[in-house]
Amino acid sequence: MKRSDLIALQQEPACNHSKVAEKSGCSRPVPGATAGGCAFDGAQIALLPIADVAHIIHGPIACAGNTWDNRGSRSSGALLYKHGLTTDLSEQDVIMGRGEKRLLHGIRQAIDSFAPAAVFVYNTCVPALEGDDIEAVCRTAQELWGTPVVAVDCAGFYGSKNFGNRIAGEAMVKQVIGTREPPPKPLTPSGKPVRDIALVGEFNIAGEFWHVAPLFDQLGLRLLCCLAGDARFAEVQMMHRAEALMVVCSKAMVNVARQLQQRYQVPWFEGSFYGITDTSSALRDFARLLDDAELSAVTEALIAREEAAIKAKLAPYRARLAGKRVLLYTGGVKSWSVVSALQELGMVVVATGTRKSTEEDKARIRELMGDEATFLESGSASAILKMARDHHADLLIAGGRNMYTALKARLPFLDINQEREFAYAGYAGMLTLAERLVASLDCPIWPLVRQSAPWHGQPLASDSCGSPA
Ligand code: SF4
Repeated sequence: MKRSDLIALQQEPACNHSKVAEKSGCSRPVPGATAGGCAFDGAQIALLPIADVAHIIHGPIACAGNTWDNRGSRSSGALLYKHGLTTDLSEQDVIMGRGEKRLLHGIRQAIDSFAPAAVFVYNTCVPALEGDDIEAVCRTAQELWGTPVVAVDCAGFYGSKNFGNRIAGEAMVKQVIGTREPPPKPLTPSGKPVRDIALVGEFNIAGEFWHVAPLFDQLGLRLLCCLAGDARFAEVQMMHRAEALMVVCSKAMVNVARQLQQRYQVPWFEGSFYGITDTSSALRDFARLLDDAELSAVTEALIAREEAAIKAKLAPYRARLAGKRVLLYTGGVKSWSVVSALQELGMVVVATGTRKSTEEDKARIRELMGDEATFLESGSASAILKMARDHHADLLIAGGRNMYTALKARLPFLDINQEREFAYAGYAGMLTLAERLVASLDCPIWPLVRQSAPWHGQPLASDSCGSPA
């Protein structure tokens, strides 16, 4: 990728980092500081859920092996995305300069074996340093075999995982979106054509988008594309015809929303499906952007119905969870949207992680938690445990990598990040969240591991040989 293209992406005008006077865009890569995922990892996880595409990783096998399917995105049909495909560059390939040839061969093999809707090629550090022209190879492959082949130039050293998300969005805007027109609109039961919408940044982790999709059906909204959870290539091609777009918990792909607005006049908003209030707000925002009085009325009726039903189901869980103190360590938009969901369950969020949060995210947290909001910038195990002790937390909610930190400290834990196995989005997701929270807190292991060991305070026993045991 040209340096000027990288700088343009780092200075994305719709990103809050570019709106802060003292900053000139997103942070640049720091040598040796790739912990948390590289740009390739970010690009791959952003696009991998497109289920009928052959995703080929061009590079040494470790790039594919270390990152493959590390998010539990689910598909309702096609499973091609579950195949780990790589050109598996060896030392000899690098020495002999055979990278481009191997890539062309790999694309052909993927097309012959799977007849995919498209092939996505992800660049990694080694071929990028070698100077492989993956765009030219993709163009040649497309001309030769007639299947769309998309180059995603996302070498790991270009930047962070979030930056990789943005590169992935850019590849979709420049090469895929706008290359197909949607089929004619069906009619709703009231005889009106459906309204078309799209989502960006929803990855259907643990199938959680399936909690939300039925709500759109009930409102007469046709989801043209969800980039990228449970998506198909053709849906991404058509998403420029959406009449309203929501950026879901993913500031990193805000470049897609901005460019769809500029090129195709698609209005957009940013929202979340975590918690009752935020789910209702997202539905209201769609009705507002679509500027449809009838839709607004139907939306309000649906919200009233769904909120009443879920609040009744949550009542017994609220009684158990009310007043429980939570330390939340997650990043970005989730830092405020999950705070709001926990507060709806009557829990007290004692502190929240803000390592990946923008100033806007922090302002929203202050709005929810008040001026006394405590921010946790460092994710080290000692900082998390100190904060938990100081604030008498009953529970840690964080990503999977913090699980053993919590368990070793005998602190109940809930996984909220991309490796989670439970779906927490939408109204139905709130019930799952409440169930998992109660299950974590009430797990019978806690009273046992918190007791003192039976031998504490006892004199040393002697074994049968007369020596201390
Ligand atoms: S792309 Fe580069 S930084 Fe990322 S996994 Fe491969 S070698 Fe490592």
